[in-house]
Amino acid sequence: MSEEARIPVLVVEDETAIRSGLCDVLAFHGYEPTGVERGDDGLAVGLSGDHALVLLDLMLPGMSGFDVCEKLRESQPALPILMLTARGSEEDVLRGFRCGADDYVTKPFSIAELMARVEALLRRSGRLEKPEEQSEPFAFGTWTVDPEALVARGNEKECVLTRREIDVLVALAAQTGRIVSRRSLLAEVWGYPDPDRVETRTIDMHVAKLRKKLDGESGSLIETVRGEGYRYSG
Ligand code: CA
Repeated sequence: MSEEARIPVLVVEDETAIRSGLCDVLAFHGYEPTGVERGDDGLAVGLSGDHALVLLDLMLPGMSGFDVCEKLRESQPALPILMLTARGSEEDVLRGFRCGADDYVTKPFSIAELMARVEALLRRSGRLEKPEEQSEPFAFGTWTVDPEALVARGNEKECVLTRREIDVLVALAAQTGRIVSRRSLLAEVWGYPDPDRVETRTIDMHVAKLRKKLDGESGSLIETVRGEGYRYSG
């Protein structure tokens, strides 16, 4: 990545060691990080519109990460926001999604996972090139999904799927074991730049159809997470 192509990323995190660690990792991977300690300062810097992505801690002095997220989202609907949450705090994840966050990583996180999340959000927002569309068959529960043939095979059956349905399965399988918000599915699968304006019922209808097609008697492959999103656990 050339010097002028560096993508500016805002890091709002009050723990100095984590903040400087994040900034180092981002700089090493070719980004242009700005570290901010306080929530209210983070909001002010974020509102300047100079950054392509925000890494946002939730417990912050000055203003909570939830409030920062909500206010940033109001004025910049397409700005990717990645929350830093504590391990096991599903409540925080769901509250963050309600405040408009796009995705999350749990602390302590692996650098590989963090960078993968950052890249995925930047690709979605058009700041990085999109990857090739998934065309190789992949496993989903006991099914093998064939994106080229638009079918799922398994359980001695063959199930015809639409392109959209396959895209939903790809998005869920790519985040196996993690909550995927409706907002994120709408952005990823439907390509809406500002998914908040769109009926999330679209997603629910597609998931309902997928369940009808793919679920056996032992419960659903696609779990609903308290009305906020979905999870595929592999
Ligand atoms: Ca904190």
